[in-house]
Amino acid sequence: MDWQTIFKEIEDKLMPHFRCDVWERGLYYYLLRHTRIAGLDATTIPLSAISGTLGCSESQARKSIRSLAEKGCIELEQTRKGHYVKVFLPNELSLPSVQEQPALNIEEIDFFKNREYLDVLLKREQNQCFYCLREIKEDSCELDHVVSQLNVGDNGYRNIVASCHQCNTKKQGGSAEDFIRQLSRKNLLSEKEFEGRIQALEALKAGQIKPEINR
Ligand SMILES: [Zn+2]
Repeated sequence: MDWQTIFKEIEDKLMPHFRCDVWERGLYYYLLRHTRIAGLDATTIPLSAISGTLGCSESQARKSIRSLAEKGCIELEQTRKGHYVKVFLPNELSLPSVQEQPALNIEEIDFFKNREYLDVLLKREQNQCFYCLREIKEDSCELDHVVSQLNVGDNGYRNIVASCHQCNTKKQGGSAEDFIRQLSRKNLLSEKEFEGRIQALEALKAGQIKPEINR
């Protein structure tokens, strides 16, 4: 038997499918150890042995073993010597296969909604306002539409940046390029910084600065 695969399937399929609690989980592994792992299809196990091993009362042990049987993970027959138990492996039960999460497509992610991707945008912006380069923090920064929603800007990574509150408020529906020029005129950006921001803006729109998503 390929126990590595079996244990993976127990954890990934069987336990979540039957929503086993901590007692049922411990009990299943205990019963498995004394049946299938010992090369037996079934065995008789007294309730006292179960409660002793799990460190629970006999009534808890009884409740859990009945519950596992009701769920169908084991087959149970009460005998004078204890419970005659047969344990099923995941491939002997008809468990739905685990749906693999489809990989995230960065082009389809809404980077504005609920500030859900704020952390990755902040990382991309290196914790600086995209416009004025002032240091920004997760709890106080804002998400800004480079092309405003009024001008039909979308919520993709090419159009959403992390900014400080002031820039977000002052820029409003205006163009990002004009706003960066204003900052430069007010000496809030050095000439070098101004050029850097204009380049960053172009790279952003061209999809060249993608946030890194690890989820
Ligand atoms: Zn700013």
